[in-house]
Amino acid sequence: MGAIPNPSEWLLISDVEYDRDAGQVDADTLYSNMKSMLVCPHCGRLLVYWQGFGEKYTAYRLEE
Ligand SMILES: [Zn+2]
Repeated sequence: MGAIPNPSEWLLISDVEYDRDAGQVDADTLYSNMKSMLVCPHCGRLLVYWQGFGEKYTAYRLEE
């Protein structure tokens, strides 16, 4: 993955999950509920690891 923190990596959390964690400030718990999204610096494709890094990602390509 290269650099940590990785400048191409974004962390996603659903509104529902965020609401569940909103009362606490535990960064590890919050982190564990977030999904990783990588932005390709070349083509702008988004790779989202909905099931975690051990599983396949879903790729989203820019519209023409
Ligand atoms: Zn690319």
